[in-house]
Amino acid sequence: MNSPTAQASALPHSTSRAATSQPDPWREASLDRSGVNTLRDQLVAAGLLIPTGVAGLFGRSQQLERVIDALDALITRLGADQQAEVLRFPPAINRADFERSEYMKAFPQLAGTVHSFCGGEHEQQRVLQCLDRAEDWTEYQKPTYVVMTPAACYPVYPVVATRGPLPPEGRVVDVLSWCFRHEPSLDPTRMQLFRMREFVRIGTAAQVLAFRSEWITRAKALIESLLLPNTLDLANDPFFGRGGRIAARSQREQSLKFELLIPVESEEKPTACLSFNYHSDHFGQLWSIQDSDLRVAHTGCVGFGLERMAIALFKHHGFDVGQWPVSVRETLWSSA
Ligand code: AMP
Ligand code: ZN
Repeated sequence: MNSPTAQASALPHSTSRAATSQPDPWREASLDRSGVNTLRDQLVAAGLLIPTGVAGLFGRSQQLERVIDALDALITRLGADQQAEVLRFPPAINRADFERSEYMKAFPQLAGTVHSFCGGEHEQQRVLQCLDRAEDWTEYQKPTYVVMTPAACYPVYPVVATRGPLPPEGRVVDVLSWCFRHEPSLDPTRMQLFRMREFVRIGTAAQVLAFRSEWITRAKALIESLLLPNTLDLANDPFFGRGGRIAARSQREQSLKFELLIPVESEEKPTACLSFNYHSDHFGQLWSIQDSDLRVAHTGCVGFGLERMAIALFKHHGFDVGQWPVSVRETLWSSA
């Protein structure tokens, strides 16, 4: 998924601020609120999304999960011929792998690091006092060795690297993960925790590019079978800072990322629901992955945003699944 390119930036702001002393714009921005009959409100009113008070952090109803499960199974059927190795990871990665991935160079604003209380009894007393006074209590929260997974394919590269050179046909890996991105938003399709299903291709440049173009065709056909309006477009990731603008331009110039867009929250700015990525030899270099000729491997992936696809279906076919077009229900729920 979104892959870092070489560019570094400083962290955006300091987070140490007493909760009561002055308004905290970051805290305000993170809080969920209803609008005037927005898509978010409609999904919440229909019971499909359950708000938690934090923007982009929702519970899901059985109805929404049923659609997500069906999409996941449909993607499995679509990729059945890929001989993909199925791997599943928890929604967090090893901090050392995270550091090596260079994610902090490219997307520090999106990363989520897991912190835990690392003090003694004295420090805990201080924390309890702060909680009582509604003051900032996080002074003794220190980073653990666990970082939230930013994209489903991130745990795959270090694993493949440990296996030695690739077989001549390369590898295809099937992953599904909850992913975290710190991008609180009132747009219900922009969540902080969501599921991403991916097929990851590791091999030669020719193998990866052929895989990507095959999946663009397949995925577009899939979305059309679900009767969803869509367009394919060249895209770029939200690289951080001034250096990020150069990284984004270079990503576009090299056509490294395509997205399948579906109008969901807005007609004018359709939502990227699937992405087709070519990382060139970026991850191959970082992880020292070799192809069968011992050259640096190339990688790419196709990513399906399961919540975005499901919400697109509800938006276009209505909130009552029983009323969806028969062909859409057959595509989702017939296992043919
Ligand atoms: P990306 O790595 O940005 O290409 O993301 C892969 C796919 O994950 C996208 O095409 C979306 O469908 C989905 N996705 C990315 N960010 C979010 C988000 N904040 N909330 C929900 N889905 C997302
Ligand atoms: Zn990926």
